[in-house]
Amino acid sequence: MKGQILEALRERTHYVSGEALSHQLGTSRVSIWKHIRGLKEDGYVIEASAKGYRLVSSPDLLLPYEFPGLEQRIHYFPEIGSTMDAARELAKKGAGEGTIVIAEVQTRGRGRLSREWLSPEGGIYFTLVLRPRISPAYAPRINLMAGIAVAVTIKELYGLKAELKWPNDVLIEGKKVCGILAEMDAETDVLNFVNVGIGINVNTSLPRFEKTATSLKDALGREISRKKFLSALAVEIERWLPLLMKADLLEEWRRLSATLNRDVRIMSLGEEVTGQAMDIDATGALLVKDKAGSLRTVLVGDCIHLRE
Ligand code: ATP
Repeated sequence: MKGQILEALRERTHYVSGEALSHQLGTSRVSIWKHIRGLKEDGYVIEASAKGYRLVSSPDLLLPYEFPGLEQRIHYFPEIGSTMDAARELAKKGAGEGTIVIAEVQTRGRGRLSREWLSPEGGIYFTLVLRPRISPAYAPRINLMAGIAVAVTIKELYGLKAELKWPNDVLIEGKKVCGILAEMDAETDVLNFVNVGIGINVNTSLPRFEKTATSLKDALGREISRKKFLSALAVEIERWLPLLMKADLLEEWRRLSATLNRDVRIMSLGEEVTGQAMDIDATGALLVKDKAGSLRTVLVGDCIHLRE
């Protein structure tokens, strides 16, 4: 109901009477009044006068009712330890594909190998529960899919060139604007779920990672609407999900990649591979031509871009 009231208020620039709202939305005036009060408590500025209600301003919060169509699937937290932990619990209890955990702030946001992911107010932090019917070996393609969706959204909304760093980062001018983390629950050949966490530096500044991180605000020189960004990103993810196992996904990743054709050093499980990043294979593994000229398949690891 809050979402519908907002929509009705946004359709008009002047006052809408409580009676008109109750008529349009098929509910009582008391119920409208209660929901308006709820919206005000959530931070919306709504003027009430004898002529009715008028929406003056909206907070840029990622409240579920701001995302019509997704609302029922969103679990929203003003603050949480980690959206990954909450989503894992939900998925373990059977939460369906498309369940989303969103937080305004994470106090224990994490990246790969439990590394810290700074998640102050102003960013977008969410985890999406997916249950694709694919072999666990292909699960890393979900990282690729999420990266593509983020990079395409940045480009389409703001015209900024966003590039993908294997395996899980989105970069603007070489600096990390978004980190992606996929965690799966699988048996040998059955994938139960894959939770994909996406942390985007939107209206944030991260002095601690000044040299390696950026935000959309830093790149654009202005703050942007996080609601608008997340709505567009959700559409993009829905567009790419059906293409998860298609060659198109790999093609798009190659097109957006900042890693391919670069000299890279990759550290994984005590092993180090240095060479030129040549391609990715169908499982999302990176193919690196090492100094001796052999093609090495790297499934996962820390990747350093050495030079152009
Ligand atoms: P790298 O970025 O060096 O390849 P990684 O991809 O393994 O590392 P992630 O798991 O994606 O790392 O992210 C964790 C690392 O990112 C942290 O160790 C820290 O250096 C950096 N970091 C933490 N918070 C942020 C943030 N909000 N934006 C950009 N970088 C961050």
